[in-house]
Amino acid sequence: MFDWLVVGAGFAGCVLAERLATQRGERVLIVDRRPHIGGNAYDRYNEDGLLIHEYGPHIFHTNSEMVLNYLSKFTTWRDYTHRVLAYVDGHLVPIPINRTTVNQLYGLSLETDEEMAAWLAARAEPVGRIETSEDVVVSKVGRELYEKFFRGYTRKQWGLDPSELDKSVTARVPTRTDTDDRYFADKYQVMPKHGYTRMFQAMVARANITVMLQAGYQEIRHLIPHKRVIYTGQIDEFFDFRFGRLPYRSLRFAHLTLDAPSHQAVAVVNYPQTEEFTRVTEYKYLTGQAHPKTAITYEYPTAEGDPYYPVPRPENQERYGLYEALARATPDVWFVGRLATYRYYNMDQVVGQALATFRRIDETVPRQEKPAAASGPWNGTLAELPGP
Ligand code: FAD
Ligand code: UDP
Repeated sequence: MFDWLVVGAGFAGCVLAERLATQRGERVLIVDRRPHIGGNAYDRYNEDGLLIHEYGPHIFHTNSEMVLNYLSKFTTWRDYTHRVLAYVDGHLVPIPINRTTVNQLYGLSLETDEEMAAWLAARAEPVGRIETSEDVVVSKVGRELYEKFFRGYTRKQWGLDPSELDKSVTARVPTRTDTDDRYFADKYQVMPKHGYTRMFQAMVARANITVMLQAGYQEIRHLIPHKRVIYTGQIDEFFDFRFGRLPYRSLRFAHLTLDAPSHQAVAVVNYPQTEEFTRVTEYKYLTGQAHPKTAITYEYPTAEGDPYYPVPRPENQERYGLYEALARATPDVWFVGRLATYRYYNMDQVVGQALATFRRIDETVPRQEKPAAASGPWNGTLAELPGP
């Protein structure tokens, strides 16, 4: 009998499994339908020995010392500051839009923050209530820059016009009046030194955590006795799509190795005006790996496929609200993570949410009377269960 069945071996599932196993000494089974742990942050060495991110570039950034300290139990870090260029009007210019972007694109020499602020103010369109992803950009930089940098990229990425998406989507990308060309402004920007998968392995390597891969919750839930569930998959699927499907946007990744030491000037180049893919990632910048070849990934947005992004817009929020109410009324199941809470969360936010969930569990769920020995071997066996 497991104390916990954790569905999903991504950040949400692994953090909770680790906390429940080490802080409460409880027996945890993690299941994932994929053949690996790590969820969308999974990385691996490809056939040429280059470390790549199977599900697109994952850059760790956070302002939370608590989250960083927690993950630091399982990995050391390498410093990495993320920079992105956008291919616009035949130029490669910094995104987020900053003073350098405008100077390069328009052949200007704006020298101060004030000059740049005035230049933007002259173009910004007044918007009464900022509600959509179009509003948030045109009200800051005007329509021309909006169309060059945001409209096409967003239509490709989401299959929707920015006017159909909540403001929070494009608001992820700031506008700057200085020459700061970092993609993220967070206090801590680091990458796990030996990759994400190694970090996840360190989290779950406990005698009282069992990991079962290529196993879907729906298939095993009645076969494996367990007391409680942590669910990190799609919330609509958990409830058999009772209120209809929640849209999740997907991507197709084209992974390539090039027989050259480097391909582009920075880790990520965005293509807001041209191409069918949204961006190209070159991993060596993220990993610091020295190698005579280089690995890159193209991202092609799709409607079908693995669920990667919740789609923030009012009607989806409303439908999620129906599922959330059901979730609240479902005893002994905790819904955590990007898919289960239908939130466009970064990795650090998911870790923060999982740690907060653990605190709530620890306050409300009585600990089992006789804790499993956290360091001794686990005696149970899954051998009698059907294979994948
Ligand atoms: P997931 O990682 O999705 O894990 C859920 C797991 O549950 C999956 O492995 C899935 O197979 C499994 N599962 C689902 N349903 C079932 C079921 N019924 N039975 C069994 N298993 C099931 N964040 C950043 O902070 N920085 C970045 O640079 C960044 N880049 C990103 C780039 C891309 C292309 C994408 C898609 C996301 C990016 N993110 C980034 C976000 C990051 O991936 C997520 O915040 C994080 O991985 C979410 O963790 P999770 O545990 O909630 O979900
Ligand atoms: N975006 C854009 N042009 C860009 C970069 C981002 O239009 O060059 C918009 C787009 O809608 C994207 C959103 O801003 O989905 C958030 O960008 P981010 O880089 O945070 O996306 P993620 O890394 O989560 O895919």
